[in-house]
Amino acid sequence: MELARYASHSQVSRGRRHAEPPAPTRDAYQRDRDRIVHSTAFRRLVYKTQVFLNHEGDLFRTRMTHSLEVAQLARSIARALALNEDLTEAIALAHDLGHTPFGHAGQEALDRCLRKAAPDSAGFEHNLQSLRVVDRLEERYAAFDGLNLSFETREGILKHCSRRNAVALEADEPGGVGRRFLDGSQPGLEAQLCNLADEIAYNAHDLDDGVRSGLITVEQLEGVPLVARHLAAARAEHPGLVGRRLLYEMLRRLLSAQVLDVIAATRLALSDHAPHSVERVRALPALLRFSDAMRAESTELKRFLFAQLYRHPQVHETSAQAQAVIGDLFSAYAGGLAPAGALRPDVEPTRAVADYIAGMTDRYALREHHRLTGHRVFPSMG
Ligand code: MG
Repeated sequence: MELARYASHSQVSRGRRHAEPPAPTRDAYQRDRDRIVHSTAFRRLVYKTQVFLNHEGDLFRTRMTHSLEVAQLARSIARALALNEDLTEAIALAHDLGHTPFGHAGQEALDRCLRKAAPDSAGFEHNLQSLRVVDRLEERYAAFDGLNLSFETREGILKHCSRRNAVALEADEPGGVGRRFLDGSQPGLEAQLCNLADEIAYNAHDLDDGVRSGLITVEQLEGVPLVARHLAAARAEHPGLVGRRLLYEMLRRLLSAQVLDVIAATRLALSDHAPHSVERVRALPALLRFSDAMRAESTELKRFLFAQLYRHPQVHETSAQAQAVIGDLFSAYAGGLAPAGALRPDVEPTRAVADYIAGMTDRYALREHHRLTGHRVFPSMG
C-alpha cells in the first residue's frame, strides 16, 4: 500500500547512530521490528506485570500481551491512515521494554531507591529506560551496544521525558531524540499513534482484567458513560445477555468506537493542516488524536480505573510487598551482593544496579529476593 506524504518513509529516515549497510530484503523499520522481537528484553515481557502480578492468574495481561494488543490496534489505525505500519509495529512492540518487574509499583520503588542512594540522580523513568534498553543495554552486536535502531523508532519509544533527562540526551546526541522535549515539537505520526493506541489498549484490557479479577463489577461500569453506552448497545442487540459475553460484546464495541474516532478525528486534523512531509508533522501540533468528546470520555474512564482498580486496596497491598522486594534487592546489590557479571562494569555502579533490577522478570526478582533474604514473598508463585 502506498504511504501518505505525511507518513514516515524509510528511505528518508534520519538513520542509525552507527552506520550499517542496508539489508537486502527489508527496509529500515522492518529491520528494527525484527531486532526488537529477537531481543532479550522483549522475551522478558512475558513475565512482567502489567497491572496484576504475573502469578495472580494465567489469563491476566502481561507486558507482552499488552504490547501485542497495542501493536495490533496501532497497525489497524496506521493502515487506515496510510501511515508506516512497520514503523508503527516496531514502536509498539518496544514501547514498554524498559518497564521494571511488578508494574508501576516496581518503577516507583526503583525511582525512590535511586534517588535515595544518589540524591543528585535523575531517578528512574520507564520511557527513558526503554530507550536505554535498545540504545545501550542489549548486548547482541560486536561493533556497538544496543540494537542500533533507526531514529524514528527511538523517537517513538521515548514517549515522555523530563527536561533534565532531555538535556542529558541532547548533550549526548545533539539534535537527537531528546530535542523535541526541549523545543516542544512533535514526533512523527507513527509515534503519536502508538501513544494513543497504548491508552486505548490498556483502558479496555484493564476493564477486562479488573472484572475478571472480581475487583470491579459490570454494575460499577454503568457509572462510566463511555462504557455504559456500549453495554446498552450490546444488550439492545442481544436482550438478556449477561456475564462474560456481555463484557466482551461491550469491549469490542468500545475498541471499535475508539479506533474509528481516532481515524476520523485525525483525518480531519490532517485535512486542516495538510502536512506534506514528516518534517512538517513534527512542527505542527499533535495531529493524531481523539475527537474532543472521545478525549473527555476516555479521560473519565481512566479516572474510574485509577480510583476503582489501580488504587484498589488489594492491588495496593500487593504493590506494597512488591516495592519492599525492589528495595531489598537494591540494598543487597548496592552492598556488593550482585551475582558475578550481573552489573555492567562500564556503567556508574548505582545506575548499573537499577539497570539490572529493571531488566528482571517478576519471578526472577522473587527468586533473587528469596536467595538473598530467605523470605518468600507471594508464596503462591510456586
Ligand atoms: Mg504500554
